[in-house]
Amino acid sequence: MSTTIVWLRHDLRVSDNPLFSSLEGTAALACVYVLDARELRQWAPEQSASRCGPARLRFLWQSLMALRGELLKRGSDLLVRIGDPVDIIAELALRLQADHVLVREEPGPEERAQLERLTHSLDQRCRLQPVESGMLFERGQLPFALDELPSSFSAFRRRLEHDWQVTDPRPAPLTLPLWPDGAPRGLPPLDQVCPRAAAWRPSDATSLDMQGGEEAARARLDHYLWDSNAVATYKTTRNGLLGADFSTRFSPWLAHGCLSARQVHAEVRAWEAEHGANASSYWVIFELLWRDYFYWAAWQEGAALFGAETLPAPDANLVAWCEGSTGVPFIDAAMRELGTSGWLSNRARQNVASFLVKDLGGDWRLGAAWFEHCLIDYDASSNWGNWRYVAGIGRDPRQHRYFNVLKQARHYDPQGDYVAHWLPALQTLPQGASRHQPWQAAPARFAAPLVEPPAWREWRIPALGGVEPVGPDE
Ligand SMILES: Cc1cc2nc3c(=O)[nH]c(=O)nc-3n(C[C@H](O)[C@H](O)[C@H](O)COP(=O)(O)OP(=O)(O)OC[C@H]3O[C@@H](n4cnc5c(N)ncnc54)[C@H](O)[C@@H]3O)c2cc1C
Repeated sequence: MSTTIVWLRHDLRVSDNPLFSSLEGTAALACVYVLDARELRQWAPEQSASRCGPARLRFLWQSLMALRGELLKRGSDLLVRIGDPVDIIAELALRLQADHVLVREEPGPEERAQLERLTHSLDQRCRLQPVESGMLFERGQLPFALDELPSSFSAFRRRLEHDWQVTDPRPAPLTLPLWPDGAPRGLPPLDQVCPRAAAWRPSDATSLDMQGGEEAARARLDHYLWDSNAVATYKTTRNGLLGADFSTRFSPWLAHGCLSARQVHAEVRAWEAEHGANASSYWVIFELLWRDYFYWAAWQEGAALFGAETLPAPDANLVAWCEGSTGVPFIDAAMRELGTSGWLSNRARQNVASFLVKDLGGDWRLGAAWFEHCLIDYDASSNWGNWRYVAGIGRDPRQHRYFNVLKQARHYDPQGDYVAHWLPALQTLPQGASRHQPWQAAPARFAAPLVEPPAWREWRIPALGGVEPVGPDE
């Protein structure tokens, strides 16, 4: 009978977590999460920004507290430490005379380097066992070797759809092995780790305050599929901007591993069995395939995923973009939403990313770094992979991935309700195109934007074009 350490990373759940199904012969079990101290260090693009911003840290802590509750119910517990994950796990393994360390495999180069270092730090009797988890497919289920990963998503999807088999999720264990004698346990209160994160709340303008943890993930899944039936219309609503149910909002729970892609897949299939499959239910799985694609692409890219090592210094345009003060309402509204709620719709992410890179001439890595700081659902593969994709570099490079922000704004927010929601000064303008070009509609009150790309020309309204400003200011 042996002692095992389950080292949790982005897999903060007990259901469908293979780490908890690989414990045969384990007499004593310690479950550990280590917050890498580098996550809290000041980082680009603004010197005051840490890699992990307050919104994500708060969500993470909620998830850890919820996980501890689940583990305690099963006779186990959780230890949370902050520092160098390799040093902490190696030291604990030595102290507990552990025989195994189980950990989820992750594609990020830092996470991979950690496993390599840990292999050398553990004493000979202790075996490090990486386990696959969280995605739709495991490596062995892919119909090609990883170094033959198709260079475009469409080709990837076509290859998989030939022989589509997603494994059913595993139930949570009923009980877990005893906590090792004398092993430390518990987690530090968040206000001691980061007072800003403990005090962080989403802005009142946010439509959904997402809370970390497996139970909250389950509740969102139930709400989106069974209670609201929103999944039935996902394909037509998913490009929405305002409200809580235009898309699934599963991303924060998937990113922290409070939910697995296989659990979403199984639930969608159960919904289809009752309501019938349609294009919308298929499209939820289609989007999860994107997540798998970026995950496997990250394995291949290694450190190249993040571009060159040294980041350029942020300039005034970047700061304006981060703050949401570029003068372009569609961009500024989205950046305010991101900064004050920790989440952003896919449509808005694509537009702000394209605007930074293609219209402002900014460096995509600084944009990706700002997203990393702000997003509750930050996921290395999806974030840096999508940024590369929008910037048109790396795999499947295409220069024509340009979003005409003014056209997109007019199309996806025709009344200007989204921009006026996040930028209340625009409520003084009538609904419609003027809210997207306030510098044309009310030049005395709204400054010209940082840039007006030539591609916007055909979407511009005429200056002062007879638009009568309304509202209390006028
Ligand atoms: C520049 C940029 C950065 C991004 N950064 C992240 C990130 O850090 N973390 C993250 O989870 N997603 C990221 N995305 C992808 C996507 O925008 C979010 O997954 C999605 O908006 C989350 O909302 P949802 O859960 O309601 O998504 P839904 O539309 O309901 O989709 C369901 C699920 O499919 C997956 N998914 C959907 N679109 C994508 C996509 N393009 N790439 C990968 N997975 C996808 C997500 O897991 C999502 O939860 C990024 C997109 C862009 C353009």
